[in-house]
Amino acid sequence: MIELLRVEPGTKAGISTRDPRDTLGFGDKQAAKRQLAQIHARLETLHGRLYAESRHSVLVVLQGLDASGKDGVIRSVATGLNPQGCRVVSFKAPTSTELAHDYLWRVHAALPARGEIGIFNRSHYEDVVAVRMLELAPKAVWRRRPAHIREWERMLSDEGTTIVKVFLNVSKAKQRQRLQERVDNPEKRWKFRLDDLDVLKRRDDYVTAWEEVVNETSSDWAPWYVVPADRNWVKSLAVASLLLRELERLDPKFPPAQPGVEGLKIKP
Ligand code: AMP
Ligand code: MG
Repeated sequence: MIELLRVEPGTKAGISTRDPRDTLGFGDKQAAKRQLAQIHARLETLHGRLYAESRHSVLVVLQGLDASGKDGVIRSVATGLNPQGCRVVSFKAPTSTELAHDYLWRVHAALPARGEIGIFNRSHYEDVVAVRMLELAPKAVWRRRPAHIREWERMLSDEGTTIVKVFLNVSKAKQRQRLQERVDNPEKRWKFRLDDLDVLKRRDDYVTAWEEVVNETSSDWAPWYVVPADRNWVKSLAVASLLLRELERLDPKFPPAQPGVEGLKIKP
């Protein structure tokens, strides 16, 4: 089922025609909890080997409109991973130092090293979409970026980084409901920015901007997946499954022991 989430290179993602409430055949919340526990166990094992082998890295790029649940997915997917080999990076509006460099500078520095799993909460894709929507640079500037990004990601893939890009597809109704909860709940209120209302108002334009960039940058070496995001358990399970699938493909192995180590008896 998760294969259907993939945006085949050269085809249209059709974000607005996909159902944000889809359950992907995962059953119900209880069944999903059990499946997620199994996936976590597998992830932990494979992550241990990835780290020991130290040849490849895996990068999960998480994007989605406000309140699509990026933070929640990171919490639930990263829970089973050894923090030592895991790198979660959140991208905010660039600082003045970051703006003094090209837009990929800060992103490149944040990439997972060999043996690590990296999770990006937002990413270089904001340098296309946020920059476009907030008019932070002229069209000629953001328009050429998807082409840079495709080639940059190709280089990363050639050099040993497996890239999985996820767009969390939340419905407008659910988005509004979650934003309202943020306002109402004193523990979540800090997350709410008045700007979020503008984003909600211009939602269709944001979705169009995402549709365009996803279509342009879904590649064989760094494909996009559009994940239904109205149900928390569906998106967590979907993203964890996508990550597991890539680790299984990589099939990392423990490196061989140093010569002379096998059978060694350590003397008292
Ligand atoms: P949040 O994820 O809610 O903490 O919000 C982070 C904010 O940073 C969002 O409003 C993003 O649009 C903004 N942001 C992230 N990356 C960029 C970027 N490259 N250019 C402009 N704004 C960005
Ligand atoms: Mg926000």
